[in-house]
Amino acid sequence: MTPSRSNRADVVVVGGGLVGATAALALARAGLSVAVLEAESIDEKIWPENSFDLRVSALSLATQRMFTALGVWPDMVEMGVASFRAMRVWDSAGGGRIEFDASELAEPALGHIVENRVTRRALLRALQQCANVQLEAPSAVTGLRIEDDAAYVETSRGTTWRAQLVVGADGNRSKVRQLLRIDARGWSYDQRAVVATVKTALPHQDTAWQRFLPAGPLAFLPLRDNHCSIVWSTFPSHAEQLLALDDATFNRQLTDAFEATLGEVSVVGARGAFPLKLEHVPDYVRPRIALIGDAAHTVHPLAGQGANLGFLDAAALAQIVGEGAASGVDAGDLRLLRRYERWRKGDNLLMLGVMDGFKRVFGSASAPLRIARNTGFNAVNRTPFLKEIFIRRAMGLSGDLPKLCSALPEVADPSWERFPAAN
Ligand SMILES: Cc1cc2nc3c(=O)[nH]c(=O)nc-3n(C[C@H](O)[C@H](O)[C@H](O)COP(=O)(O)OP(=O)(O)OC[C@H]3O[C@@H](n4cnc5c(N)ncnc54)[C@H](O)[C@@H]3O)c2cc1C
Repeated sequence: MTPSRSNRADVVVVGGGLVGATAALALARAGLSVAVLEAESIDEKIWPENSFDLRVSALSLATQRMFTALGVWPDMVEMGVASFRAMRVWDSAGGGRIEFDASELAEPALGHIVENRVTRRALLRALQQCANVQLEAPSAVTGLRIEDDAAYVETSRGTTWRAQLVVGADGNRSKVRQLLRIDARGWSYDQRAVVATVKTALPHQDTAWQRFLPAGPLAFLPLRDNHCSIVWSTFPSHAEQLLALDDATFNRQLTDAFEATLGEVSVVGARGAFPLKLEHVPDYVRPRIALIGDAAHTVHPLAGQGANLGFLDAAALAQIVGEGAASGVDAGDLRLLRRYERWRKGDNLLMLGVMDGFKRVFGSASAPLRIARNTGFNAVNRTPFLKEIFIRRAMGLSGDLPKLCSALPEVADPSWERFPAAN
């Protein structure tokens, strides 16, 4: 099938999730014409009053800078973001603990906890305002053909799109990857993350909390009105049990597992669970193809880095392709795309390795390892410069950052007024 005249763009982005929508916006702002093909409906639905999205993400300062530069941050703040100023992490087996405070780094916050529906809505609204962006949804990509002068993408709607470059941002079961026969390497953790929103009896103190249990970490991430989003990583059979419990029993078990650190907790709304795995693709790029976000790598959520890594992919790709376009280079040129791959692959692999190491060290019941990790935790906690290295990396303030993430936000962060300290 040949594409109609209107089904053409410099870049087709497959997947309008968090990372795909960010990439599309960054590419459009860099002056390219972009089409976004998203399998699910993107119509704005009214959110029930006082409801929360089960899926939230801890967004780094680098991500906040990027969203500010792209002009979506004010809309996100308007819909609701919660800043966190401290992080408390401790081990259930032994006295190891590590604590970070934004004040030690002279930063107003360590990051923000944002419901995924907020980030996505702000991005999609911004895309709808761009004259050089076409959004097609629901429209699932079903076929892909690469030729010398262009790539052709076929969809479940029967449309065919022609582009110089196809960006695969269609998540960890990527169809683009499948069509190209690129196999991801990695392993399942034999763990599931149970997620829920809870209200806590004691103030969460604008702090992100994480307790390492033998089965996996349990995190409490602060939201508005003294609610927290919990991520409880555990064995699949335990996750099933947690999902099946009535609210009162779940509340009791969760309060105990968290040592009642924030008092009694009460679950609000539904619970869900996600399988956890580590995956990485050997090739991020092919002629006229670039993979970004979870289509290229999946990481354990224990340090809240997955989406942040994907946003950096999106910014790096848009920068390289944008600079190429400004000097007349075809967006699908493999040499250009290899620059993106070289830039992001090392960084992503480093973070995947570190997260995998944490997961294994904290998942081990071996006594020597338990003693070593607790000693290590406490040693880092007492060594300010080491702490700073860790936290700056997690905040996205170190490393080779794309231009979109390296500028300080130009607008003041009004989230302080919206969510004042609860204590
Ligand atoms: C429990 C949990 C907690 C997490 N917490 C954090 C956190 O705190 N911070 C953080 O940074 N990360 C976190 N992550 C990771 C983060 O959620 C993911 O890295 C991120 O959502 C990946 O975004 P993506 O856009 O690459 O993929 P996805 O979110 O999977 O989006 C892919 C999009 O592609 C569309 N699509 C799929 N197939 C097709 C097709 N054939 N055609 C067209 N469209 C298609 C889908 O509908 C979807 O919209 C967490 C993950 C889990 C499981």
